[in-house]
Amino acid sequence: MKKDRNKQSAPAGKAGGKNGKVFDANLFAAESVKSLKAYVPGEQPSGGGWVKLNTNEFPYPPSPRVAEAIIAELKGGRDANLRLYPNPESRALRRAVAEHFGLEEKNAIIGNGSDDILNLAVRAFADKNLRIGAMRLSYSLYPVLANIQGAKYEEFDFGKNFSIPTRRICESGVNIFFLTSPNAPTAHGYEISEVEKLLKSFKGLVLIDEAYAPFSKAGSAACLVKKYKNAIVVCTMSKGWALAGMRVGWALADESAIGVLDKVRDSYNVDRLAQAAALAAIKDKSYYRRLCAKIVSTRAATEKFFDKIGFGYVPSSANFILVRPAANGKSGADVAADLFGHLKSEKILVRYFASDPLVNDSLRVTVGTPEEMEKFKESVKRWIGSQK
Ligand code: PMP
Repeated sequence: MKKDRNKQSAPAGKAGGKNGKVFDANLFAAESVKSLKAYVPGEQPSGGGWVKLNTNEFPYPPSPRVAEAIIAELKGGRDANLRLYPNPESRALRRAVAEHFGLEEKNAIIGNGSDDILNLAVRAFADKNLRIGAMRLSYSLYPVLANIQGAKYEEFDFGKNFSIPTRRICESGVNIFFLTSPNAPTAHGYEISEVEKLLKSFKGLVLIDEAYAPFSKAGSAACLVKKYKNAIVVCTMSKGWALAGMRVGWALADESAIGVLDKVRDSYNVDRLAQAAALAAIKDKSYYRRLCAKIVSTRAATEKFFDKIGFGYVPSSANFILVRPAANGKSGADVAADLFGHLKSEKILVRYFASDPLVNDSLRVTVGTPEEMEKFKESVKRWIGSQK
């Protein structure tokens, strides 16, 4: 039965209304929001002592130049003062990011994290008539953004070996296709040529969400932006640049697409400290190249460990591994949930998507430092011992 908001009491100072009923703001919410299930981010535990392998953060600190740049911004006198608004378009950062990928300033837009950019893309390019397509599985924020916007969200099953079902996407008539590349949560990586094939054949826009590209062999798809005007390449500094706490992401695209995204952007969407920090980070190429390589080698060692103990996994092109634990030759949701609980009891956090039948037999494990992965492996071995 539909509740009538006119029958409920006006908001009162206390939890209860005048007639004793509890005020429910959901009755005033927009239709698309009333039944909305919000995105649930991975747990950010309070207190120390955790081995945190659940939200794909960079396991090393950001470049030392980042802290220097933040301090300089704070001390920079009247013109670089927190009293003043930041540059509304993050101009210097647009230029630096574009140059980093061999593009021009007009090809870049900066966001408050790449979630901000994804939100801009949904607001700009989707509505009740303009559908969004994405792979099943993909980053689970996309359908939430689509629902808020009242846009239809269509999921496409992977082709063989996680391949992109290009023909089905082309026939679907969706307005924009969100390709998570490397994929999350599987960590499967795509060749640039596979992404190019989609851009070439598909008449709509393709948003390539390459949050994990810094850890992939294929690298960034930004090299396709000049050739394909329907490409929008989105990345974040949360993963490959150790700046999850600063909230910076970007899109690289043809200037006409950047212009449309700019129309729906908040005026001052990236704060002064974030702009300064990100600028310092993007310029310190050698620091990040070295540490990304270290993460890739820790990833290989972790995959070897899984081979040795007989856990199945998707070969990873990201800084995490989707692994299917097995006990006494058996896998499944119960087994994955049990290992998740065991690890947590030893203060090791990984990500478990309990409610998704496609992955609830697996755990998503972020690649940490070698020391963190040692603790993880020791804990897994103890769990295996306890299963006999
Ligand atoms: N895309 C993908 C595929 C992600 O996994 C994430 C982080 N969960 C994001 C985008 C968003 O990153 P951020 O908002 O931290 O930039």
